[in-house]
Amino acid sequence: RTVAELDGVLVACRACPRLVDWREQVAIVKRSAFRECEYWAKPVPGFGPADATLAIIGLAPAAHGGNRTGRIFTGDPSGDVLYAALHAVGLASQPTATHPGDGLVLRGVRITVPVHCAPPDNRPTVNERNTCRPWLARELALLRPTLRVVVALGGFGWQASLPVLAAAGWSLPRPRPAFGHGVHVRLANQNIGRDVHLLGCYHPSRRNIATGTLTVPMLRDVLRRAARFAQS
Ligand code: SF4
Repeated sequence: RTVAELDGVLVACRACPRLVDWREQVAIVKRSAFRECEYWAKPVPGFGPADATLAIIGLAPAAHGGNRTGRIFTGDPSGDVLYAALHAVGLASQPTATHPGDGLVLRGVRITVPVHCAPPDNRPTVNERNTCRPWLARELALLRPTLRVVVALGGFGWQASLPVLAAAGWSLPRPRPAFGHGVHVRLANQNIGRDVHLLGCYHPSRRNIATGTLTVPMLRDVLRRAARFAQS
């Protein structure tokens, strides 16, 4: 199966009743600014080339962002920050992401999430995270031939990435490395003889940006390091 075929199956998933209900309710009620928009209201696949060397793993689609536009981190404040930073370090063709037809192209980067449906309050349950895990596992397994770097955005993305990387053959240190901004762990894979670099980065959420927990220079620094590892 290819990544495109996987995405085609993913968008029909209805395995989490609470999230199916939420993603569809949001699309009916809408936010006033988007009253004229037709919402996607389905699982949101990863975005970027199937031969990416760098995977960025976030949390879940935003109710009025990815859940509206159908493309991850597209049409919401977190995405505005992330795509601008990707463009600044040469990994995206343009600094803005508004809708799937906006012409944005990622260079060697695929952005995905451990939970593909928008959750209430951006908080999936542990059960929902576990239910969605096989999708991320399949996606990373398909990226494995080219994958060199994973950037986990936030502790949720970090925790979700570790078991999936282990399942794809990369060895995790014991004890398992804890999430932190700028934390770097190199994971070996005996089967394919190529390491993966795992980098932690605070999530570019509206709150993290507003409080200064994550600044644009901090985000760019992590992405620059990731780009260097991807080319090494
Ligand atoms: Fe399916 Fe994942 Fe959405 Fe749950 S969160 S319904 S497993 S795509």
